Amino acid sequence: MINPFESAMAQLSKAASFIGKSDPKVTEKLEILKQPQRILNVTIPVKMDNGKIRIFQGYRVQFNNARGPYKGGTRYHPQVEIEEIKALAFWMVFKLAVVDVPYGGGKGGVAVDPRVHSKGEVERITRAYTRAIAPVIGPTVDIPGPDVNTGEEVMTIIADEYSKVVGKWTPGVSTGKYINRGGSEGRHSATAQGAWYVFEALAGKLDIKKNATVAIQGFGNAGYYFARLLKSKGYRIIAISDSKNSVHNPAGLDVEALQAWKEKKGSLTNFAGAKTFPRDAVFGVPVDILIPAALENSLHKENASGVKAKVIFELANGPTTPEADAIFQKKGVVVVPDILTNAGGVTVSYFEWVQNMENTHWTEEEVNKKLHKKMTKAAVEVWDASRKYKTSLRIGAFVVALGRILKAMK
Ligand code: NAD
Repeated sequence: MINPFESAMAQLSKAASFIGKSDPKVTEKLEILKQPQRILNVTIPVKMDNGKIRIFQGYRVQFNNARGPYKGGTRYHPQVEIEEIKALAFWMVFKLAVVDVPYGGGKGGVAVDPRVHSKGEVERITRAYTRAIAPVIGPTVDIPGPDVNTGEEVMTIIADEYSKVVGKWTPGVSTGKYINRGGSEGRHSATAQGAWYVFEALAGKLDIKKNATVAIQGFGNAGYYFARLLKSKGYRIIAISDSKNSVHNPAGLDVEALQAWKEKKGSLTNFAGAKTFPRDAVFGVPVDILIPAALENSLHKENASGVKAKVIFELANGPTTPEADAIFQKKGVVVVPDILTNAGGVTVSYFEWVQNMENTHWTEEEVNKKLHKKMTKAAVEVWDASRKYKTSLRIGAFVVALGRILKAMK
């Protein structure tokens, strides 16, 4: 089993080798950066619909706040555990520094499968989790956002419950909320929109042709919106997977029809406009671009050699293990890293927070204009760093971020 936190530390170590690791002051700061500043482990007893109490484990990891309040998503998944949350929190520190948003990094989660619970149970779990972490969160301290299996419903409940705890409406405590409860325009599609701006900025440099073919692992918030965007720009999406199966059509998938199918049937399986294959067959499809948009460690040493794509855009967090990364580098497959590609979501979360703090509301056009500026600048900086140090885009991104973090830690 790959430990995602160890993967994250390996990436830090590689980036640090370009940035004066031999300087004792830098070494000291790197040691600080390797440890989360706070780990909160909460036990949450919740009454189920049948009247029985069930106990859930919840976490909030506050990794580093040198650049501002901790910020990071909240994951609801049965496999949530502390090493994963620590790694995700660490990547948030770097992601926010890559896009130069004034936040530190954190992450939280509850070991729960929300799909097997009623709406009422999920609400009670969320309220109990919020009360449990309330002493350490707040709009200027730590701001949870959405992640796998949490969306605007959960984020709005977090803001509502926290507001009850502190006795005043405090929308800035969470992001990704319903628009009529302080959410931002454009947040739904922000991760995909941001990824598109990165794609656009790098397409020429990576020699991506106008009619390039695409395979996407994961068809949730990130994967669906990115599939839709790429299709609207003329790219051909020929394979998509979800947690059950993958569907393939070399002539191109109708993304909207697929989404309607998934909504109706609960999975992609047997979608009429394609052939159904096993889930992980999505990785071996001959395509120009592969987009992992599900969970971490999806691309590993056993399946990396079978990848036929020339470019990988990491929409998920930590989808590539260090061993797979090395295989891709050897094969000449370019990996556009998660901390750049998917930073659009948290960037619009930051815009939401700014709007909450200023009690204002921007149009989607304003949001996307600001997002475009941030993502394009970050993509070019990461590209330039990778050229300057003759390294991968991943390490280029870490170098850009590390420079900013170390400066703030001074
Ligand atoms: P989501 O819950 O909306 O969707 C996840 C999708 O992945 C679902 O379609 C699910 O069926 C699928 N999936 C799960 N396990 C799979 C597997 N083994 N193989 C194939 N598909 C599988 O989650 P999301 O918000 O889209 O997040 C996906 C990834 O993107 C995560 O790594 C998350 O951390 C990252 N991310 C999301 C955002 C955001 O704003 N939503 C921002 C940054 C990063």
